[in-house]
Amino acid sequence: MSSNSPLQAVRGMNDILPEEARLWLWFEDTVRDWLEGYGYRNIRMPLLEHTALFKRAIGEVTDIVEKEMYSFEDSLNGDQLTLRPEGTASCVRAALQHSLLYNAPQRLYYSGAMFRHERPQKGRYRQFHQIGVEALGFAGPDIDAEQIVMCARLWRKLGLRDITLQLNTLGDIAARQRHRAKLIAYFEQYSSVLDEDATRRLYTNPLRILDSKNPAMQELIMAAPNLMEELEEDALKHFETVQKILQRHEVAFEINPRLVRGLDYYNRTVFEWITTRLGAQGTVCAGGRFDGLIEQISGKSAPATGFAMGIERLLALLQEDGMNTPPAPLDVYVVHQGEMADGMASLVAERLRDSGLRVLLHCNGGSFKSQMKKADASNACAAVILGDNEVSTELATLKPLRGGEQMQVAFDDLPAKINELIKQG
Ligand code: ATP
Ligand code: MG
Repeated sequence: MSSNSPLQAVRGMNDILPEEARLWLWFEDTVRDWLEGYGYRNIRMPLLEHTALFKRAIGEVTDIVEKEMYSFEDSLNGDQLTLRPEGTASCVRAALQHSLLYNAPQRLYYSGAMFRHERPQKGRYRQFHQIGVEALGFAGPDIDAEQIVMCARLWRKLGLRDITLQLNTLGDIAARQRHRAKLIAYFEQYSSVLDEDATRRLYTNPLRILDSKNPAMQELIMAAPNLMEELEEDALKHFETVQKILQRHEVAFEINPRLVRGLDYYNRTVFEWITTRLGAQGTVCAGGRFDGLIEQISGKSAPATGFAMGIERLLALLQEDGMNTPPAPLDVYVVHQGEMADGMASLVAERLRDSGLRVLLHCNGGSFKSQMKKADASNACAAVILGDNEVSTELATLKPLRGGEQMQVAFDDLPAKINELIKQG
């Protein structure tokens, strides 16, 4: 950026202005209630981590590590650092560093900004926000299913329809390795049909070829060896139990054998919640089991499962549904004019706040008329008016802003009267 160009936010990083921030606050409150309803506890990690953490946790041959990370060298001490592209690695790092898993499993959640250097477009930003939910130290299919059932509850709570669940299992490592060998052998036979991406991935990450959106390759992909056939007894049973629990809770799903997820650390259950209403950026929530990750980071093994949702995408859906930003909450607008009244106004406002009311004290002067215009536009339920008259009689003028006659009220009685007006709506 040249020195005289206007100052703008970094490309792909958004300001969330007050009007929209109201929707975020409402969403965050709703999500917090929902998570507490399942016994999850909040954890907060730094935005910066050592680059090595993500390389080790996410895997070197992934989109994130290969091309999406904001990494730099700390100019003061030479440390290699990265702005977190996702939260699972940091969350697991924190849990291990502070021995949270020492003798109890943990249900944890976090919320905050993530950073990926992607091409910005609707629903895809370079700074975006996730709610991440992790159950660390749990092995059984019950927790996988509970996490999916709980997502379904959140969509209901938010009033979101049209989100469908895709489910798959990646089995365990041995099965994946057998499948991988078969995939390589299969695709090698058709090397002339493979596109550039697939050719590049054939030996590094053949599973990802199944993910290809290229129409010319779909026939080949449909006929590729199926991982399901390699699954061992335990993994199959795990997957069947997850499905059974979902059916018991009437959570509909579609099994998608090509659902492989972008990150290397997943095994067994993987899932995505998808909408068709956000174009190509249709995945609003994604997750699954990652039994190998904790060992990969620490050497000690513990099973785990989790998911993350993209807040921008969920809010875009809510806005498409015509969800209005809830108005800024305000009870009273205090209008005042005259030297004595001006002095008294802030004292009255503080007294009203003492009683729990939300009060906007007019500042910057102006005529009664212009102040009343602002009060009317403010969303407050009542205006308290203070002028020379009110000061000398020690009675404030209380004007209901949603209909009704104005009245004279002793200062001490204001909170009770205003609460009556609020109750009347
Ligand atoms: P995609 O396939 O859309 O790139 P992903 O597999 O990279 O998604 P995850 O790492 O699973 O995404 O992240 C979980 C969720 O976070 C996604 O389902 C999505 O809702 C959201 N998300 C991921 N990347 C972005 C981004 N760049 N901008 C906005 N939201 C994002
Ligand atoms: Mg991505």
